[in-house]
Amino acid sequence: MEESLDIFTNLAKDLLKDEKINPVAEHIPSSKLYDRLDLSLHQDPIDDEKFLASLKDLVFTTPRTATNAFFNQLFGGRNEKAVLGDLLAVLLNNSMYTYKAAGPMIGVEKVIIRKVCDMVGWDENADGTIAPGGSMTNLMSMIMGRDYFDNKTPHQGVNKKLTVYTSLDSHYSIPKNAAFSGIGRENVRLIPTNKFGEMDVTALEQQIQKDKADGFHPVLVNATAGTTVLGAFDDIENISQICKENSIWLHVDGAYCGSVLFSAKYKHLIKGVDKVDSFSFNAHKMIGTPLSCSLIVVKDKSYLHESFSNDASYLYQTDHDEFNLGKTSLQCGRRNDALKFWTLWKSVGTKGLEEIVDRQFELADTARDYVRNHPDYKLYSYDDSISICFNYKGIPARDICTKLYEHSKLLVGYGSFREDEFIRLVTINAQNENKDILNFFKTLELFVKENQTLFKKDVVQ
Ligand SMILES: *Cc1c(COP(=O)(O)O)cnc(C)c1O
Repeated sequence: MEESLDIFTNLAKDLLKDEKINPVAEHIPSSKLYDRLDLSLHQDPIDDEKFLASLKDLVFTTPRTATNAFFNQLFGGRNEKAVLGDLLAVLLNNSMYTYKAAGPMIGVEKVIIRKVCDMVGWDENADGTIAPGGSMTNLMSMIMGRDYFDNKTPHQGVNKKLTVYTSLDSHYSIPKNAAFSGIGRENVRLIPTNKFGEMDVTALEQQIQKDKADGFHPVLVNATAGTTVLGAFDDIENISQICKENSIWLHVDGAYCGSVLFSAKYKHLIKGVDKVDSFSFNAHKMIGTPLSCSLIVVKDKSYLHESFSNDASYLYQTDHDEFNLGKTSLQCGRRNDALKFWTLWKSVGTKGLEEIVDRQFELADTARDYVRNHPDYKLYSYDDSISICFNYKGIPARDICTKLYEHSKLLVGYGSFREDEFIRLVTINAQNENKDILNFFKTLELFVKENQTLFKKDVVQ
């Protein structure tokens, strides 16, 4: 093992050094992948030197998500204390279903969940769990909503016409989860949004009443805290009123921006979160832990038990259920995703997490100001969002993003809202500084200028 640890340390050091000089890895087109890298598997072992060379080649050509040139998705950066925790989780290799198998690590997860419930404003009756990603915590919320409507469903299956509600701009996991949970994709009502990308609450109410009149049973409203493209926040307070009147489970999908919970300055964006039934957020997005770390907390823990616990005499042999976390989780064997969040939180304090969140909004302000003040740009996003959506010189966003990628300059993606398609710069890497954001624009501008022919059709001047 020691030898492998040395290999790891050396590889890691080389990578960190190279990332500083080359923030974007060599681009390998997928059509050339198996020619460029030796990924093949054989009957016989290979010698250490060849193995090491293959490994290094692989590591060095893998997209670099921790550098100041990665703005492609809703994660980025590398938090050293969180990485430390995750490395230890791999080394220790516990499974989080029982106290017998994970010991004090159960306490680590419980302490995090407890603290988050406190911050939401819930009492000891609240609880939660960690699942592999926001799609999965959203699935858990849908299952709980379904079973909250009728607690016979986990036993007898779905035998009524159920409906769920989410905005047109919400995450695609909602229809997918409707397929998994027996509710059906066709029974997802996509509620229109206003120009900010926020759910139209009046339309929600009307759709619920219409469905009820038509013999459907609404079981879940999914509100989004940070929509995937614009980063918009649905009006939780007003939506919760409607859910209460109609006895519908309300979940807040805060996978992207639910972590504003940690910020005194921005938590108003999820005002009313204490009135919902469940709330999820991805610590691997705004908080910056390694993938994946998605928490879901539930106001009344009995629903978590009702939907997810199953007896298993071969598994639950000692200790109280409260320490056997498998009783409330989606999986059986479960990775320790709590430790990386705990090592970070323990070391920087809640204040440090707040700074991480606030920094992203500061970087977003820098980016928005830049776009607003430069006439070659057109801005599509609004304040209080860390997704800065814009177009440059009228060039189609997908062309710019693809060429920047193919030329190993920047990794950034594009998105669309209604008829507009635009570049989406996400300022989620809290290790970035204002100069990194300004450098992003400089790099883009220089690239377009020096590669006029690539955009010949597009660039007018
Ligand atoms: C990212 C995201 C998800 C999905 O989370 P994964 O961890 O990628 O499964 C769900 N909802 C929203 C709003 C997201 O931004």
